[in-house]
Amino acid sequence: MKEELRYSLEKLKKASEHLEEAVKESLDFQSLKTTGVRINYLHICERKLWLFDRGIGMEQTSDKVLLGKLLGEYSYLRQQTRDVLIDNLIRIDIMDKDTIREIKYSNKLQEADRAQILYYLYYLKRLGVEKKGIINYPKMRRREEVVLTEEAERGVEEDLRRVQEIISLKNPPQAKRKPYCKKCSYYEFCWV
Ligand code: SF4
Repeated sequence: MKEELRYSLEKLKKASEHLEEAVKESLDFQSLKTTGVRINYLHICERKLWLFDRGIGMEQTSDKVLLGKLLGEYSYLRQQTRDVLIDNLIRIDIMDKDTIREIKYSNKLQEADRAQILYYLYYLKRLGVEKKGIINYPKMRRREEVVLTEEAERGVEEDLRRVQEIISLKNPPQAKRKPYCKKCSYYEFCWV
């Protein structure tokens, strides 16, 4: 009997340790949630994310960004629910019954586009809505389907933590040359 009791106590202790670990690792979504653009920039360049976060908003003058916005506005006009703003924080290009869509000007920064739409899927899941994602590249007549797997969810959580780390830095991360620096709207700020 004593032996059984000790065994049960040990099991309870282990379970409580696991629970403590899980609580420690769980994400404080409310304080970490952010915009899709920040997640996107995290995957493009940490310095760009920091500059953008400080309101150094040169993106507004970028032709590519303007073109992307126009494409978003004038593509898929028959779609019903467009430009959906959620919690005054994330803005989804198109939403229908089963999917959300993002429309991108070019597929050169695919990884960042994927990270952004995965974040939207994650955000919606937190609100109790599960959907699939589609990234449309109308200029290339291409589309990519994106599914929020468990592994992808962990990736989104990692991104949220990392965004917080970067924007909390006192100074911007060092500029590091990337193949697309010359096309970045912060190019002059970083390299001239
Ligand atoms: S120019 Fe290059 S280093 Fe500077 S913010 Fe843009 S991508 Fe980053």
